[in-house]
Amino acid sequence: MKTFDAVVIGGGPAGMTAALYLLRSHLNVALVEKLSTGGQMLMTERIDNYPGFPEGIEAWELADRMAAQVKSWEHEESARFNDEVKAIEPGEELHKVLVGDEWIAGRVVLICSGAQYRRLGLPGEKELTGRGVSYCALCDGNFFRDKEVAVIGGGNSALEEALYLARLVKKLHLIHRRDDFRATKCYQNKCFVNPKMQILRSSVVLRILGETEVTGITLQDLKNGEIRDIPLDGVFIFVGFEPQGSAFFPESLQKDGHGFLITDQEMRTNIPGIYAAGDIRSKTCRQVASAVGDGAVAAHNMMSYLEHHGK
Ligand code: NAP
Repeated sequence: MKTFDAVVIGGGPAGMTAALYLLRSHLNVALVEKLSTGGQMLMTERIDNYPGFPEGIEAWELADRMAAQVKSWEHEESARFNDEVKAIEPGEELHKVLVGDEWIAGRVVLICSGAQYRRLGLPGEKELTGRGVSYCALCDGNFFRDKEVAVIGGGNSALEEALYLARLVKKLHLIHRRDDFRATKCYQNKCFVNPKMQILRSSVVLRILGETEVTGITLQDLKNGEIRDIPLDGVFIFVGFEPQGSAFFPESLQKDGHGFLITDQEMRTNIPGIYAAGDIRSKTCRQVASAVGDGAVAAHNMMSYLEHHGK
């Protein structure tokens, strides 16, 4: 079994930052990523709030730059695994990680498996996913050029993605269950003056309509109870995140009520030697900048742990 000082699971901004710090300290690191490095940030077009890029930066470019920096510090004892983690078996000295069909071991393990967009569970949602229901404006927006769509949600994701979609579509209904939006004011201000957007507050979608593709939604106005159908070509859902990778988390790992991993401020989980960073942590702020910060803190503490345990 290949054994490493550190196994980093997930190649998003948290995992890449931690890997960079650990590699720069000449530790032998295994970086495990099932798809391509970049994580959740690849689901968006541009990143305008990552410091150092006053004009903003394309998300893929930021991901590529981070990956190149990690690569520049890789050495003959470090390794990359492009496969899915299936299990973690915590141990006293070593924690075993099943990657694809291969067991590897790490003296410390960092989980940065991230989060994915949550489903609403509406009638028609599952059946019509990929047939007009989408959770990724960047991936699917092009299919709705000059068409009419709805965006559901009131957070940063919904408004940011609505602004992107409004550039492509003919008309967009932004539907939020409350009067107040939780998204940052700068997104609200842009959405509220966008001529293509109709803002539907205190409204909930009851079902998504369509047999083989989306044809509309049934919407309820929560203030007057009125229920009506709106004909549409597409529905984009951005109502928060759920954890990714739960299937491989050890049973004894402490999670919050939504399944996100509980850590202290040093990114330590309740299992000694196992850390978590980035969107998979139980926290309120999920940003590239905060993921990068988590990754740096985690790596710093993993190094202290290794020093105190004989490395
Ligand atoms: P979020 O902030 O948790 O917002 C989820 C939105 O969905 C809320 O407005 C919520 O309504 C609504 N919602 C939840 N369940 C619903 C339901 N069953 N029916 C209808 N509406 C429902 O999630 P997010 O927007 O995906 O953002 C997640 C994290 O990523 C946040 O920390 C956010 O700041 C961050 N993020 C940052 C950026 C950026 O900085 N550029 C971009 C994207 C995401 P209520 O408001 O009524 O609860």
